[in-house]
Amino acid sequence: MESYDVIVIGAGHNGLVCAAYLLKAGYRVLLLEKRTVPGGAATTEEVIPDQAPGFQFNLCAIDHELIHLGPVVQELELTKYGLEYLFCDPVVFCPHPNGQAFLAHRSLEQTCAEIERYSARDARKYREFMEYWQRLVSALAPIFNAPPKSLIDIAGNYDLGKIKDLVASVGSTQKALEFIRTMLTSAEDLLNEWFDSEIIKAPLARLSAEMGVPPSQKNLAIGAMMMSTRHHPGMARPKGGTGALTKALVNLVNALGGEILTDQRVKQILVDEGRAVGVRTANGTEYRVKHGVISNIDAQRLFLHCMDAADVDAADPNLRERLERRIINNNETILKIDLAMSEPLRFQHHNHQDEYLIGSVLIADSVRQVEIAHAEPAMGKIPDADPSMYVVQPTMLDPSMAPDGKHTLWIEFFAPYQIEGRQGTGLNGTGWTDDLKHQVADRVIDKLAEYAPNVKQATIARRVESPAELGERLGAFKGNYYHIDMTLEQMVFFRPLPEIANYKTPIAGLFLTGAGTHPGGSISGMPGRNCARVFLQTQQPLAQTWRDIRNSLKSTLAAVLPKS
Ligand SMILES: Cc1cc2nc3c(=O)[nH]c(=O)nc-3n(C[C@H](O)[C@H](O)[C@H](O)COP(=O)(O)OP(=O)(O)OC[C@H]3O[C@@H](n4cnc5c(N)ncnc54)[C@H](O)[C@@H]3O)c2cc1C
Repeated sequence: MESYDVIVIGAGHNGLVCAAYLLKAGYRVLLLEKRTVPGGAATTEEVIPDQAPGFQFNLCAIDHELIHLGPVVQELELTKYGLEYLFCDPVVFCPHPNGQAFLAHRSLEQTCAEIERYSARDARKYREFMEYWQRLVSALAPIFNAPPKSLIDIAGNYDLGKIKDLVASVGSTQKALEFIRTMLTSAEDLLNEWFDSEIIKAPLARLSAEMGVPPSQKNLAIGAMMMSTRHHPGMARPKGGTGALTKALVNLVNALGGEILTDQRVKQILVDEGRAVGVRTANGTEYRVKHGVISNIDAQRLFLHCMDAADVDAADPNLRERLERRIINNNETILKIDLAMSEPLRFQHHNHQDEYLIGSVLIADSVRQVEIAHAEPAMGKIPDADPSMYVVQPTMLDPSMAPDGKHTLWIEFFAPYQIEGRQGTGLNGTGWTDDLKHQVADRVIDKLAEYAPNVKQATIARRVESPAELGERLGAFKGNYYHIDMTLEQMVFFRPLPEIANYKTPIAGLFLTGAGTHPGGSISGMPGRNCARVFLQTQQPLAQTWRDIRNSLKSTLAAVLPKS
């Protein structure tokens, strides 16, 4: 039987990031991945090889913003392992049914100049709004990049610029109250407070709702940061697709002597006297560990599906019930459409320019349409009467992802995991069948064709993945690609539950990372890095605390001393 220092369950990008930090610290690490390829929701695959050979598709994540708010790429020197980020500019194009459009560039000035064509007031307010959010994001980034309960770590992340942004955001009673109010309100209310034109509000609402909730949901105006980060630090895609991030991490893990075994679904955590001592995979193989098991899968699946109830109850008699009843999963997930195309989309009613296709294309006609797109899935309904969607033509920025002159199209359409009234039918009883997913995809494409009529005749082949299939592929609970909902009461030291929010669990040697831990889903690598820090802290408390204090002092001194 093989023995390792650490086993990571799942080779999603967070599992890989976590493993890389532990390997760098000298631990012997094994990653066990259930799929035939590592990466989880961060892969690029040639998934229609018969009809569309040579076309590379990002099956899930495509636009990377949050990873640029943290140090993972630099600290792990991922460019040395093959990662190259291509930044998008423009970043968003949202055609409006009246023939106008919202076109956002990376530059705030250029974007305001675009908005000025419709409303001088909205252009002025847009600048103020984005500057407010940029300061706020800068002030919050140190919290994202540290375990939520590690004050020394958080303090160490503040440099002079971030301290200034913190003071500018919450440095007086008035500002602090304004911040609290902003956190308590909804994206829709906030947008109505700031802007007049639907042409600005609808795309901003659509991006805010990427948190996985309708724009009217209170306590989630923080979704507004999804637009501000596109201006700064910017929105980028790895050259070759999101899978190139995974590839760079795999190269690093291999170079450091780590092992990644694919087609290895972990079925059971082995616990001995309250301590995680290894895992058993679906094919019956057992792997033992000396120091710890780290889960890149969410807490519900880990504790409720991969552990003996008696082991969990012995460590915390309330945990299983709290995981079952307290964690919120609002039933919203994604129906994903990938097209191989002979030519790019043409927005013929909007004075088509190829630059529209560099960033994300949002089909968001109104805030109300976006509201329906997110409210209906929660009720088990498919919001396809007038579909809103997020579309990307990745090959415009990176032609290497398709044969010469050809293109791919990435379409994200929010849909329910469990369809109301179809319980017990379709895949895993969700109601999703092949026929249904194609019917829905047809309606989504019909809507896109209202804006880009050439989409149908340019399609060479298509792949549609239903929410139930996506859930199966990722092994995600109810298809939730954020592992658990990104709502305020499940963030920071509440993610996934207060008692397991600092990556540690009541089982000694069992740790949590991944999208279901702080600071949450998306491509950031932050949960992986934060978890590694907590793991190292438990292994070498004095050495790690000393390192953290030293780093903290260093950055505080750098913040207060004048630069020579
Ligand atoms: C369609 C779609 C589009 C998205 N678009 C974006 C985007 O543009 N930008 C962005 O930032 N984010 C996006 N996201 C979200 C983002 O991709 C995820 O939040 C993020 O990749 C999660 O990473 P992770 O490593 O925490 O978890 P995951 O990627 O879910 O990794 C978990 C890993 O564990 C494996 N696994 C599961 N069960 C087991 C088991 N029992 N044994 C062994 N292995 C197991 C899985 O196969 C997987 O590899 C998107 C998600 C989807 C689904």
